[in-house]
Amino acid sequence: MRLSIRLMLFAAALVGVAARPAAAAVSVVATTEDLASLAREVGGDRITVVALAKGYQDPHFVDPKPSFILAVSRADLLIVVGRELELGWLPPLVTSGRNAKIQPGANGYLDASANVRILEIPTAQITRAMGDVHSQGNPHYWLDPGNGRRIAQTIKDKLIQLSPADRAYFDQRYADFDKRLAAAESRWDSTMAPYKGTKIVTYHRSWPNFMERFGLNVIGYVEPKPGIPPTTSHTVDLIDEMKRQGVKLIIVEPYFDLKTPQAIAKQVGGEVLVLAPSVGGTKEATDYIRLFDYDVNVVVAALKKATGK
Ligand SMILES: [Zn+2]
Repeated sequence: MRLSIRLMLFAAALVGVAARPAAAAVSVVATTEDLASLAREVGGDRITVVALAKGYQDPHFVDPKPSFILAVSRADLLIVVGRELELGWLPPLVTSGRNAKIQPGANGYLDASANVRILEIPTAQITRAMGDVHSQGNPHYWLDPGNGRRIAQTIKDKLIQLSPADRAYFDQRYADFDKRLAAAESRWDSTMAPYKGTKIVTYHRSWPNFMERFGLNVIGYVEPKPGIPPTTSHTVDLIDEMKRQGVKLIIVEPYFDLKTPQAIAKQVGGEVLVLAPSVGGTKEATDYIRLFDYDVNVVVAALKKATGK
C-alpha cells in the first residue's frame, strides 16, 4: 500500500515535469504594439509578449490599468520606446510593479531607441512655451522601417543575452524578418516613388521618420505646438499656407478630433487621411510590416487621386 502511494506521487510529479515547457519562455512586456510585434518577429515561441498601450491610443497619454502592474511585476524584459514618449505614465507603473529585473538600468530594461535614427533633436534650450517638445528628439521613430530593423536587432541582442541557449533560433528569426522587411521596403519605395516631394500637413509630429523615409514634405501641423490643441489663429494661418503651396492632404492620427482637420480640408479643397501610427491603430495593421502596407496604400491612393499620377 505504502509503495503504491509513493508510486502515485512519483507519477504525479512526472506529469508535473512533462507539463512544463522544455525551457521557460522569456516573459516580455512592451509599452506599445509596435515593439510587441517586433519582439514577436524575433522571439517567436521562445517568448511571451504583452503590449501595454493599444495602437489606437495616444502613446503620450495612456491610462494605466491594474493588469499593466501585474504584467510588469512578472516580466523578465520590459521594452520601452524611450525618448520621453512614456514619461507621463510608465514610471509609476514600473515602481508599482516592484520587479527589480525591469527597473531602468537593470538587465531586463531595454530602451528600443538606443541604435535608431532620431530626428528633431532640439539644439536650443527647451521651454514650456514650445509645447510638448521632447529633449531627446522625436519619439515616433518606429515609423521608419529602417528603424524597425534596428529595433528588431536591439531586441534580438537582448534576448540572446537573457536566453543564450536560444541564440541560433533568435538569429534565424531576425534574418528571416530582415529579408521580409527588405522585400516589403522595395515594394513600398516603388509605389511611393512617383509622389516624392509632395507637400502634406499632419496633425501631430508623429510622422517625420515616415515622411523622410518616403520622400514626402511636411509643411505644417494642425497642432500649433506639439501636444497643444488647434487654435483659430493657427488654423487660419495654416489654411493660408496650404492654399499658397497647393497642399491637399492632412494626415491625422486615430485618436484626434477630426473637426478642425475636416474644416481645413474643406477650405483648401483637400482631404483628411486617418493613418495608423502604430500596429493595432486600425484592424488591418496586425503586425509591423502590415502597418506600413496599410499606411502606404492609403497615402498612395489619396496621392493618386490628388495628383492624377
Ligand atoms: Zn508625439
